[in-house]
Amino acid sequence: MAAAVMRAAVLLRRGRVPGLGAVPRRYHYKKKWATTAPRIPATRLALHHFDTTYSLQLQEHWPAVRAAMLCEQKYSALLNNFTSTDLIAQELELISATDFVSEAARKAQCWQEGVEVEKRRNTSLEGSGGDSMMVLTETSPLLRAPINSNIKCYTFPRGDISRFRPAWPDSLGILSYYLMDAASLLPVLALNVQPGNLVLDLCAAPGGKTLALLQTGACGHLAANDISISRTKRLYHILNSYVPKEIRETVSVTSHDGRDWEKLQGGAFHKVLVDVPCTTDRHSVMEEENNIFHKIRTKERQMLPMVQLQLLMAGILAAKPEGEVVYSTCSLSSLQNEHVVERAIDIAETQFNITVHVEDLSHFRTLFQDTFCFFSDCRLGELVLPHLTANFGPMYFCKLRRA
Ligand code: SAM
Repeated sequence: MAAAVMRAAVLLRRGRVPGLGAVPRRYHYKKKWATTAPRIPATRLALHHFDTTYSLQLQEHWPAVRAAMLCEQKYSALLNNFTSTDLIAQELELISATDFVSEAARKAQCWQEGVEVEKRRNTSLEGSGGDSMMVLTETSPLLRAPINSNIKCYTFPRGDISRFRPAWPDSLGILSYYLMDAASLLPVLALNVQPGNLVLDLCAAPGGKTLALLQTGACGHLAANDISISRTKRLYHILNSYVPKEIRETVSVTSHDGRDWEKLQGGAFHKVLVDVPCTTDRHSVMEEENNIFHKIRTKERQMLPMVQLQLLMAGILAAKPEGEVVYSTCSLSSLQNEHVVERAIDIAETQFNITVHVEDLSHFRTLFQDTFCFFSDCRLGELVLPHLTANFGPMYFCKLRRA
């Protein structure tokens, strides 16, 4: 018996199983491999990390958000106002896509008209009930923040997962639309650029939001900055493909570390967009390449909230008094979202004696509820949650006004 066991052990060491012939090479066990393998894919590490943190943060919403993030993302077509848009709009409408920005703008206008009617009715009525109604409606954020209707962005209806075909150039070689996550437009809409505004896009590359800012037709001057030279090249490429030369000349592209912006041009801008580097949650669970959950990038990932805070501080200091700053990420993480905003407000007050107010953007939830799923329990700012019927986001955005 003992001899039989010994023989079996010898056979196994030689790669043979008694009675079964040779063991396939892949089952060979080599000690030296054991020290390096198995390597856990970064996407799995990301998902594990998110399962731990987001199940607590999003509670019962997390399973649905998780499923959506692991499925194909939905895209929208941002119409390029620098080409003739009418024909393209007609083509998109023929395939059942609709412009969700114009729809929201129309909705906001209807509400405003409704309030005007209400006001007139109340002034003709006697009694205090009517007055209190007027106060309520006049303080509604809907009436304070119009939606820039120059921006036109088409999406397929909820639950429709059709895709847009790639954009095509016009006779001058300018592309007709830019395909992007529709939720990326919300920080730009929240910034609400007014005609002649000096605008800073502090972390601009590859340039989707820069292009959207230009579509407002309102930027007096746009400074588009990104620390990465290779990504800045992608920004140039987008500008060259979508924007005519005379408009490009109103944009200055730089590759500075945004954290040092104050030394370059502090207090100069009416509007500042701070779209920071983050854990790019959707990318992190889907793509191995350039994944921030790779072991070698652990330190970089852990430093993100600090870098985000420094960039937001630089954005606040770059704004003029009464200037507005929108902070955004494509992460669900409250550590990278609300916490960064809270810390920045605190530092602005205590170290720079600058009071910063958070602007109410809750009307975005009402205006865009047909297109996006919003998280209703976000402490500060707004958060778009990916959902299988509206698979955009994640996108966090929060608007600040410097006093
Ligand atoms: N706003 C861009 C868009 O819509 O296409 C996306 C910006 S991406 C989320 C974040 C960007 O921040 C990256 O392109 C990255 O190179 C840049 N970045 C990282 N650290 C930076 C820093 N210290 N200063 C300026 N840009 C930085």
